[in-house]
Amino acid sequence: NNHLSDRINNMATSATLAMAAKARELRGQGKDIIGLSLGEPDFNIPDFIKDAAKKAIDENYSSYSPVDGYADLKQAISNKFKRDNNLEYGLNQIVVSTGAKQSLANIAMIMLNKGDEVILPAPYWVSYSDIVKLAEGVPVEVSTSIDTDFKMTPEQLEAAITPKTKMMWFSSPCNPSGSVYSEEELKGLAEVLKKHPNIYVVSDEIYEHINFRGGHVSIAGIEGMYDRTITVNGVSKAFAMTGWRIGYIGAPEWIAKACTKFQGQNTSGANAIAQRATITALEAPVSKIQFMIDEFHKRRDLVLGLLGEIEGFNLNVPEGAFYVFPDISSFFGKTLNGTKINDASDFALYLLENANVATVTGAAFGNPNCIRISYAASEDELKEAISRIKAVL
Ligand code: PLP
Repeated sequence: NNHLSDRINNMATSATLAMAAKARELRGQGKDIIGLSLGEPDFNIPDFIKDAAKKAIDENYSSYSPVDGYADLKQAISNKFKRDNNLEYGLNQIVVSTGAKQSLANIAMIMLNKGDEVILPAPYWVSYSDIVKLAEGVPVEVSTSIDTDFKMTPEQLEAAITPKTKMMWFSSPCNPSGSVYSEEELKGLAEVLKKHPNIYVVSDEIYEHINFRGGHVSIAGIEGMYDRTITVNGVSKAFAMTGWRIGYIGAPEWIAKACTKFQGQNTSGANAIAQRATITALEAPVSKIQFMIDEFHKRRDLVLGLLGEIEGFNLNVPEGAFYVFPDISSFFGKTLNGTKINDASDFALYLLENANVATVTGAAFGNPNCIRISYAASEDELKEAISRIKAVL
């Protein structure tokens, strides 16, 4: 529509949300669709967190909160950073937002000038590139493959840096590949960045607890990185609180201040009730959510085993998050039940229309050889979905 701004016309629709909408539409037509396209835990919010929200309502937490979040929530976040990540962030270094997505959008808007380059090891989370573009930055994709477990090497990082490089954004555990960077690997990247002191890093750690190898490492804790890293986290994944919309950052004070200024002209403070409940969530020991992590671990093994039986699926072993990211490029050029498969988007569409299973094309994450399958679904659904996929291939 040419009455709309170039800004919105140039923006891609979130592929994961688009796939979910399409699945919903087909369900509306009476089709029995199994949705494995969304990055959303299928658990209920634990009761102790729900109780905290109810209490907050009764205690009349109904006014505007401070733009950067309640002070006692920021204290809980500061304690969490210390407890889980051994990072010291004072209250003036923390900003609470409406989901980690808003934290990321704030960062792009306050850090990027037109033409600034942002290195995105691909595959990357679906929204990074459009958030960067909205801020007039230029996403620079660094392609990785299953051969390096979808991780960027220091050599690749070095080669991608130009005088215009302003930032590097990545998630570990990674959505969509499930890859987890080890301390050694992060040190390797930090070594390269040391030579380029003007490059800032966004470390998206929203899946930190959903980690099956143990030992989450924050790049901000690596020597030389603290003053140039923005650590992003939130409660959507670990506490199944996706709809309550609370995310946060720990960052150098001047960055936190700028995010607060920006947010103050956009949305103001995040939802008051959800902020109060987040205090309770973050103060709880991680053991309270271990059951979810154990369940995801079990499902990962189930899904890897079943998908491994399908010829043409090339799989890495994801060590975190709740996705598998099989390379399905061996199907390209083939015709399945009369449908020509040219790329991963055709493949995902073929699965949706023939197996009634919703997945997401890897193209949306910057990797056109793969599809993303979320295993945030029950074991029965996963078994049924994979048996249907097998049948139509
Ligand atoms: N970062 C990554 C890597 C994600 O996968 C997601 C959600 O899918 C987000 C950020 C956004 O999370 P939130 O619900 O806190 O906005």
